[in-house]
Amino acid sequence: MYLTVRDATKTYGTFTALDRVSIEIDRGEFVCLLGPSGCGKTTLLRLIAGLSDLDGGEILLEDTALSDLPARKRGFGIVFQSYSLFPNMTVADNIGYGLRIRGTQRSEISARVTELLELVKLPQVADNFPNQLSGGQQQRIALARAIAVDPRVLLLDEPLSALDAKVRAELRDEIRHVQRSLGIPTLMVTHDQEEALALADKIICMNHGVVVQAGTPEDLYHRPRTRFVAEFMGISNLLSTEAVAQIFPDLLATRPAGADGAHVVCIRPEQIGVTPAPDGNATVRGISFLGNLRRLEVESPGGPLVVETHGADTCREGDRVNLHVASEACTWVADDVAQAPAESQS
Ligand code: ATP
Repeated sequence: MYLTVRDATKTYGTFTALDRVSIEIDRGEFVCLLGPSGCGKTTLLRLIAGLSDLDGGEILLEDTALSDLPARKRGFGIVFQSYSLFPNMTVADNIGYGLRIRGTQRSEISARVTELLELVKLPQVADNFPNQLSGGQQQRIALARAIAVDPRVLLLDEPLSALDAKVRAELRDEIRHVQRSLGIPTLMVTHDQEEALALADKIICMNHGVVVQAGTPEDLYHRPRTRFVAEFMGISNLLSTEAVAQIFPDLLATRPAGADGAHVVCIRPEQIGVTPAPDGNATVRGISFLGNLRRLEVESPGGPLVVETHGADTCREGDRVNLHVASEACTWVADDVAQAPAESQS
């Protein structure tokens, strides 16, 4: 493994912000740290960057411990949420900053700056100052500055969160393109599950200072292990065993052996099929047209469900329907939410 964080622990007074967190980033990999506000994502990123010290555990880069290496000697590139450019320097000077510090020759810096401005698709702004650029453009320059020094690892702390939706989506694709083309191992902090799904090779989902699940975007979306992950990764129908018995009794056969009642079934809205039937046991209560899909609120004997359909408009509000789902589209997950506060105090 290229970068390894092993049992990282960080406390602030009596508060444990990170509790034995272990993560791995392979060469060329794009990893997203995903979780709600306050779960410890930025704390972990800062530890890796060398901007704060571990209270326990270790961080290894190619099997060498980083603990004694100050931030500036780690050779990492960092992009923060916003406003991280030097306001009194031109764009070119901002991008070339790290190279100048290293004593790189002026002509070489100039060539590199030109190349990077092309890469982030802003070839015309070399002589502008940051305040003459939009927020999205500033973040492109911050990205160019971070990669100018060929960082060993790229660390991104919510780089898109200050931008509006359209610019955010554009820059998201741009970051992915740049990361892929240069193959820089990248760790990005985000609380936006859509961003993580779109960008990451691997998502590390955190809550209350611990890693709750790590895996591919498909793993976390389709095979969450807990209610927390299921809910965090997008809209899900989470049904108790009793509700499953009412609506989809066939699924009870798929319940894992040894289940002790602390399990619920997660069914994504697009996995449920709806067939209009006058004697159906469910009723469509609401329909929202969302452009590429329709979202139905359905009242069923086991409680309300959210269903998403891409097909033709076959239902109206008030229609009675039958619901069906393939057993492979369902995941039994641990009902961890009630246990979460206790976890945070450990
Ligand atoms: P956000 O998305 O809101 O930035 P986060 O997941 O990045 O959240 P962190 O910034 O890592 O969360 O903070 C984790 C917890 O540690 C929070 O409860 C925060 O209040 C606490 N914390 C962070 N820095 C300090 C500090 N310097 N002193 C005391 N508590 C801190």
